[in-house]
Amino acid sequence: MTPDPLIPRTSELAQAYLDSVDERPVAPPVDLEVLRVSLDRPIPETGADPTAVIEWLAKAVDPGLVASAGPRYFGFVMGGSSPTALAADWLTSTWDQNAGLFVRSPAAAVAEEIAGARLAELFGIPAGVSVGFTSGGTMANFTALAAARHAVLGEAGWDVEERGLIGAPEIYAVAGDESHVTVYGAFQMLGLGRGRVHRVPTDDQGRMRPDALRAVLRTLQGPTIVSAQAGNVNTGSFDPLPEIAAVVREHGGWLHVDGAIGLWAAVSPELRHLTAGLELADSWTTDAHKWLNVPYDSGLVFVRDAEAHRAAMSFGGHALVEHVEGGRDPYDWVPESSRRARGFVVLAALHALGRSGLPDLIERCCRLARRMAERLGAAPGVEILNDIVLNQILVRLTPAFGSRGDAGSDVVDGDAFTRDVIRRVQEDGTCWVGGRTWHGLGTIRISITSWNTTEADIDRSADAILRCAAAAAADWAGRSGRA
Ligand SMILES: *Cc1c(COP(=O)(O)O)cnc(C)c1O
Repeated sequence: MTPDPLIPRTSELAQAYLDSVDERPVAPPVDLEVLRVSLDRPIPETGADPTAVIEWLAKAVDPGLVASAGPRYFGFVMGGSSPTALAADWLTSTWDQNAGLFVRSPAAAVAEEIAGARLAELFGIPAGVSVGFTSGGTMANFTALAAARHAVLGEAGWDVEERGLIGAPEIYAVAGDESHVTVYGAFQMLGLGRGRVHRVPTDDQGRMRPDALRAVLRTLQGPTIVSAQAGNVNTGSFDPLPEIAAVVREHGGWLHVDGAIGLWAAVSPELRHLTAGLELADSWTTDAHKWLNVPYDSGLVFVRDAEAHRAAMSFGGHALVEHVEGGRDPYDWVPESSRRARGFVVLAALHALGRSGLPDLIERCCRLARRMAERLGAAPGVEILNDIVLNQILVRLTPAFGSRGDAGSDVVDGDAFTRDVIRRVQEDGTCWVGGRTWHGLGTIRISITSWNTTEADIDRSADAILRCAAAAAADWAGRSGRA
């Protein structure tokens, strides 16, 4: 029996947090010592009252919470949690299912089977692809590239799962120079060496260049894996998949597409053209905790060659007596054995949005990104560095902010000024943005990925950013005696 006031009181605390998330400072400056001291209470000799523990916990962590579930968190690529996804997530914890084996939770296994198939259909990737539910894009990339490693070495007559890489035929990993760091991380973890990856030059928007890919592949003779990208984490740009697929087909090899962000464009009639050629790949990854707006954590991997996928992830010939005929054991498709059941939440999120609500969400975020870029870009001394094709914006500010005419201050000043503005925006607390160095220039990177962001949130945030830039410009002018 759960002690009586515990669940209702927890629900009240959760509701209070949700009520606060729109208006609390997005990421207030945190006093690390205070946070440590308030959490480092001595563990009591005998157990404390459950409700009191929860009340203490909620209070102690509060100053260190980041309102990334709110409407004005634009850092990294995050996305809040939609109410239905959150509710399904509560129930998932309540049910406490272990999604490793079918027999441990037929409901969890079937929910993942169905959610995976529905998503593949929405993305327009081939029916019958195998699917794995991972902690995120990192492990999804790892899983897909492990399946690729199995397949290309298998063709060379080498069983990599049984024999390992020592003595194996030379194998080549190829990725766009601007592939996400976790793609390089996946090659690292797969024993292929992140420093050995052949980096294909990209264009001014960060897209892999097919001609450059052809030139790289020409130098490689042997098993090859190429990792392309749908949705550059900085610019939102898409690698030209039809051309890339043609080059890979000509050479031979496995084509993976990291679509942690950009796969979601495929659900929208307005944006689908960006993902043309998606169906030509051998494997795909995406994140549900980004644009589907489900709580952390939730990543997905899809693989065309189900046998390669299973061979890379299952642990060999241990015929489990617990296997249920006809049932799908989720652990055959991901690195983990015991894990959280992630299918319930994905299914609930899809149903709450509906067939029109999902593209609406994606398109709305992109529309809001254009609005943000227009608002910021209209101010003198502000440059939008990327084409706004998706939900990502790269903004650069110069010390000439606010003055007409010469905005062409040097790179060092522009970097330092942009950094200064980022710091001020973060302290201001209206919204949260981070920074990235992109093509040698310091930038503010803004990502619009949340269901609850409105036009008013964009306008308020743009005003805050411009206000912080004006304050920085005044300080800089004063400091250099140009006031
Ligand atoms: C976020 C992201 C990843 C990594 O995903 P995690 O969910 O953080 O593990 C990989 N690739 C791209 C393009 C991403 O945006």
